[in-house]
Amino acid sequence: MDTTVETRDPITDDIDAVIIGAGFAGLYMNQRLRDQMGLRVQVFETGEGVGGTWYWNRYPGARCDSESYIYCYSFDKDLMQEWEWSGKYPEQPEILRYLNHVADRHDLRRNIAFQTRVTSAHWDEADHRWTVQTDRGDTVRCQFLITAIGCLSTGQVPKIPGLDSFQGDWYHTGAWPHEGVDFTGKRVGVIGTGSSGVQSIPRIAEQAGHLTVFQRTAQYTVPARHGTVDKAFLDDIKTRYEDVYEYCRRSAGGQPYTLSERSALTVSDEERAAVFEAAWQEGGFKFLTATFNDIALDRRANDTASEFIRAKIRETVKDPEVAEKLVPVDHPFTSKRPLIDTHYFETYNRDNVTLVDIRHAPIEEITPTGIRTTDGEYELDVIVFATGFDAMTGPFFRMDIQGKDGLKLKDKWEHGPLTYLGVSTVGFPNLFMITGPGSPSVLSNMPVSIEQHVEWIGDVVEHMRAEGVETMEADQQAETEWVAHVNEIAAATMFMLADSWYLGANIPGKPRVFMPYVGGVGAYRQKCDEVRDAGYEGFNLSPAATPVAGA
Ligand SMILES: Cc1cc2nc3c(=O)[nH]c(=O)nc-3n(C[C@H](O)[C@H](O)[C@H](O)COP(=O)(O)OP(=O)(O)OC[C@H]3O[C@@H](n4cnc5c(N)ncnc54)[C@H](O)[C@@H]3O)c2cc1C
Repeated sequence: MDTTVETRDPITDDIDAVIIGAGFAGLYMNQRLRDQMGLRVQVFETGEGVGGTWYWNRYPGARCDSESYIYCYSFDKDLMQEWEWSGKYPEQPEILRYLNHVADRHDLRRNIAFQTRVTSAHWDEADHRWTVQTDRGDTVRCQFLITAIGCLSTGQVPKIPGLDSFQGDWYHTGAWPHEGVDFTGKRVGVIGTGSSGVQSIPRIAEQAGHLTVFQRTAQYTVPARHGTVDKAFLDDIKTRYEDVYEYCRRSAGGQPYTLSERSALTVSDEERAAVFEAAWQEGGFKFLTATFNDIALDRRANDTASEFIRAKIRETVKDPEVAEKLVPVDHPFTSKRPLIDTHYFETYNRDNVTLVDIRHAPIEEITPTGIRTTDGEYELDVIVFATGFDAMTGPFFRMDIQGKDGLKLKDKWEHGPLTYLGVSTVGFPNLFMITGPGSPSVLSNMPVSIEQHVEWIGDVVEHMRAEGVETMEADQQAETEWVAHVNEIAAATMFMLADSWYLGANIPGKPRVFMPYVGGVGAYRQKCDEVRDAGYEGFNLSPAATPVAGA
């Protein structure tokens, strides 16, 4: 990867807004504030280009699980008509191309400072400004600070003794070399079988001399049935695109699927099996949404889906011993991030693939020549960490964010994130978080949630300017009640029954708190709209201080 950092003078402006991040969220926020509202805006982005997730995650098989025609913006109606997606699920290069096209089309790069990490942001109560500093020596003061830093942008490489001694190459899927990695003839080890692992393992196996997969948690995954997208289908969507997108905005998960109205427990075994089979053949998230309405809510209903997938794994994987290792038994389906795949289980039928169960024989150390577990040593040329992210709070904690009276965000969130609507947190006026913890975020088709936040924050800024409001800060009671609500509804779902990254369980020492809002995209949007329509209920809005005469 070319890591040349272009020289430039430090930025020392006093402006309206700083946006951190130039992925889906930062790009649209920039367009909204700068172009639609005429604010003076500075964007900072660590990467060399736009794209966020799709700039960083270039591993083989990297692909979106949302269908292409709804994994895009809806604010640019002409672009919705013009853009032609090639596949059912867009691959990383295509999404990156799309986001670069959006940046070109709206001339969004000219106020983005690339290769620049925001290191700190401090609130100055005296003049109600944020002071933002970067690793390039920039110091920018602004009224509004908006984080568009992503929920999954802080890669997690587990601290395994000996990594420094490894003589081969190693990579994290979330920081993949731009020039790609040639695995031809190599002995490759992949650690992790979450979404990135499930996507990359079949592709790496096709190229590697030998692939060893180190699995801690066996996964439920449903075939994606990826393929080229039917042009007639897309043309039809385009005749009613706004309706389709509006359906997503009001839905549970920001997806276009019709939810089943039937319980899995009210049909015969034969009928249930037929419904699951049809959804399995069609592929994708419909297995979760369009089959039965209680899979994620009722343990007995869930058992029927979990058992169906387990049977599929046993049917697909030829070696019964390997199949049993791949069958998830310690958590129910949907308690972790749902996965979809392309030939994942079939990959374990290949002669050049070995599965190592590190739940029962944990990794002890990385040696100069490979990985040693408690029951054996595996010689490797390359190690791939498909070990995920320090989700949601990780990107915040990599910055020193200080609010009123020097309150550090890291201290305030020591026992878990505390927000009002996932967009604001008490003690940090004029700080707005796009898809922050406590909002639907990672439980949704994210462009839908991102657009909703960008537009809601845009409305806030417009209101403040129109009404002469200088600061807006969440009210303590509103925040406390929102956090209680987020926890209460999560407790009623399957999500609490697994050690997932939603709960911070993949990061040693991270508090076990369910971070996203599980109440649904539509219900959440309605709540945000009600808050806005009631004059920003639950927020304290303060006018600009009037200068004292003679002072
Ligand atoms: C492998 C993978 C697959 C995914 N698949 C799906 C999917 O199928 N459907 C779906 O809806 N979502 C999916 N997601 C979630 C995806 O992150 C979102 O859909 C979306 O891309 C998020 O956009 P964003 O702009 O909010 O954040 P990001 O795309 O993460 O962008 C955030 C940007 O902020 C920058 N940044 C962070 N901190 C700083 C700092 N301190 N200073 C400067 N810059 C900073 C980062 O470099 C990054 O470029 C997936 C994520 C991953 C990792």
